[in-house]
Amino acid sequence: MAYIEPAPIKDKENPLESMMSRFDEAARKLGITEEMYYILKVPYRQVTVGLPVMMDNGKIKVFEGYRVLHSNILGPSKGGIRFDPAVTLDEVKALAAWMTWKCAVVDIPYGGGKGGVACNPREMSVGELERLMRAYTVAMLDVFGPDKDIPAPDMGTSPREMAWLMDEYSKAKGMTVHAVVTGKPVVLGGSLGRVEATGRGVMVSALAGMEKLRINPYKATCAVQGFGNVGSHAARLLFERGVKIVAISDMTGGYYNEQGIDIEEAMRYVEKNNKSLEGYAGAEKISNEDLLTLPVDILVPAAKEDVITEENAHQIKAKLIVEGANGPTSATADPIINSKGILAVPDILANAGGVTVSYFEWVQNRLGYKWTQERIERRSDRIMKDAFDKVYQASLDYDVPMRIAAYIVAIDKVSQTYRFRGGY
Ligand code: NAD
Repeated sequence: MAYIEPAPIKDKENPLESMMSRFDEAARKLGITEEMYYILKVPYRQVTVGLPVMMDNGKIKVFEGYRVLHSNILGPSKGGIRFDPAVTLDEVKALAAWMTWKCAVVDIPYGGGKGGVACNPREMSVGELERLMRAYTVAMLDVFGPDKDIPAPDMGTSPREMAWLMDEYSKAKGMTVHAVVTGKPVVLGGSLGRVEATGRGVMVSALAGMEKLRINPYKATCAVQGFGNVGSHAARLLFERGVKIVAISDMTGGYYNEQGIDIEEAMRYVEKNNKSLEGYAGAEKISNEDLLTLPVDILVPAAKEDVITEENAHQIKAKLIVEGANGPTSATADPIINSKGILAVPDILANAGGVTVSYFEWVQNRLGYKWTQERIERRSDRIMKDAFDKVYQASLDYDVPMRIAAYIVAIDKVSQTYRFRGGY
């Protein structure tokens, strides 16, 4: 198909460009038509707004905000709102597409969307942040909606901001609308199990990968980069299932103990130590770079994008990589990882447990009912395992790595749905 040029990677370390190049590769393998390629590539709606907000010093500052709805083919668009000084429309567009593929891989009835406001939340007071979030919500009143577009937290936003959004939207509609946003505080209709959902999905993906590679969890070793929400829960849940976690890390560096780290104890330490592993005893201090190349069975990058690159991929010794973070492997590292025979469970599959439980939050809000943690875990584990099996099978059928297989599964689902729905 001549219309899909082999994607030139302009910036080798840009995770969003990496994602686009993988999308193109999967589209080529799947052999979708030219029309379908553009239907899937171009967002169906992009909104840019100017948000005048009264700052604490009495002056009005105007922020630029975006919401990109990439696809509504499978259902209402779903995706977080990012508060970050570096947010641009281009970034939000790429992140919205990413959400489309993530939701399609785990087979939940959502399209993809993403929002952002160019601001620095660390330099703003709580009052300023609240006014900004409420202004953004009012500006997006005709964009958001429980059947249209459902935001969630992302970098720089949290359940607190989602509560403001839900409140402002509800006021405008003259009724309480819980289901307009997910990631809310539990008292306000948030779901049980959301906090650990992404880490739990990483654990399910890791166990499924171990099964394929015939690695016994009780004899397996694992290194986890990043000990935040995703990494700490993934580590704890794997630890509870017998996996020996020999290394963990955060911004302060890596912590290695060949005998294994007691993850529950490490989590308690971090809780008491201002959310940091700094000074954690009982482990040797190593660098975050060294952690990636340790002689372990499983590597879980769960900190940030682009940590596995063409420079260090050759030295990776793990047999299984499970991507907790978004975009931890650059596109140029992929061929090296594949040539070494490493099974890499890609981000859009491995970390989709979070959006899955967000979907459960929306379902519960619409039912006006609360599920137990046990029910949420059982259902999300099933979704994650089914998605893993489907992607693994596609990787065999198309003879491609799991990353491309995940895009193939997603693109196939969305394009088939589009064919049934039809266009003009
Ligand atoms: P978090 O802020 O809770 O934790 C991030 C962790 O990584 C912290 O321990 C931090 O110290 C560490 N870290 C940051 N920079 C680092 C560096 N340079 N080297 C080593 N460690 C570093 O964030 P999170 O919610 O756990 O998200 C982690 C990754 O997972 C991100 O890529 C995020 O996009 C992705 N993700 C998160 C969710 C979710 O539900 N939280 C869902 C899908 C994907």
